[in-house]
Amino acid sequence: MKAAVFKQAGVPLVIEEVVDPEPGPDDLILKVKACGICGTDLHWSQGIDSTAGWRDLVANSVMGHEFSGEVVEVGKNARARFQTGERVVAQPFIGCGSCAACRAGRSYRCSTVITRASANLTGAYAEYTRVGVAETLRLPEAVNFHAGALVEPLAVGLNAVKRAGLQAGDAVLIIGAGPVGLSVALWCRFFGARDVIVSDRVPERSQRAAEFGATGAIDASTEDVSERVRQLAGRAPAIIFDCVGIPGTLQLSVDQAPVDAHLVIVGLCMAADTFFPAKAIIKELHMTFAFVYSKEDFQFVVDMLASERIPAMALVTSTVSLENFPTKFEAMKNAGSDLKVMLEPELL
Ligand SMILES: [Zn+2]
Ligand SMILES: [Zn+2]
Repeated sequence: MKAAVFKQAGVPLVIEEVVDPEPGPDDLILKVKACGICGTDLHWSQGIDSTAGWRDLVANSVMGHEFSGEVVEVGKNARARFQTGERVVAQPFIGCGSCAACRAGRSYRCSTVITRASANLTGAYAEYTRVGVAETLRLPEAVNFHAGALVEPLAVGLNAVKRAGLQAGDAVLIIGAGPVGLSVALWCRFFGARDVIVSDRVPERSQRAAEFGATGAIDASTEDVSERVRQLAGRAPAIIFDCVGIPGTLQLSVDQAPVDAHLVIVGLCMAADTFFPAKAIIKELHMTFAFVYSKEDFQFVVDMLASERIPAMALVTSTVSLENFPTKFEAMKNAGSDLKVMLEPELL
């Protein structure tokens, strides 16, 4: 099959023939219908500080973890559960399926978990991909393949909001209006925040936040964020979400937080960062780090998409074929107006 293959940091991906994935007994093979380009992959492919606790990307690996597809092959133990032709979405890792973590729907904590873009598992920037039956969910008729590929980033936002201790009526500030920040915004609105304020240094991005449930937007390149939040909400935010993940944003969140606020760090910063703990201590801030999601979160997102209760579809701003993928991937490294770009391997 064809795939977009990583060669080395700083070098564009290359479209190449790679070995077709084979299903293990508890696996399915999907024909990839859509796969979103994720900021994590953009950072990852540029090389990271190997002390960051995030493994290096190996040469000839294939990324892509936000996908949906059609089942084309079913492993022998999975035949009672799935059939070829079914439309599905899957969590992007494969656990053993039977340990406590796997049974809790958190197979990323499984001691034998296999993750994407590793020597053992090809990601979905490809024509086909292998998934574990335990990590796979059916897509209802009402959820198209683009929406299916949004389930992963929406589940990231959902998990962050669940960890934030949001109370109905709260004011929240979301720093960063990329796909993660906007996903957080729509769940804050969903769970009853009264003021959902999104700030970004790129004005076109923050302005679009209203489509995803934001009640106010701040252009952080020209406006004083703390002051504008007070103007818009009439008070300081109870929760601040850092959805940027570059060095410096942690300090920014601490600086903007009022006494006793909750900071939720979602943006995946892969470089060392510093901040002044004393500033956080004086304010007695609560700090939470949010990573991925459970299978239950995935199911909740699928259900809310199916019942059209979240305004998520506008996240998709363009589509790209496999052939044009490496060029688009490179272009995405400079923050532009695109939110989520969908690879459609079947596009010509
Ligand atoms: Zn992602
Ligand atoms: Zn397990």
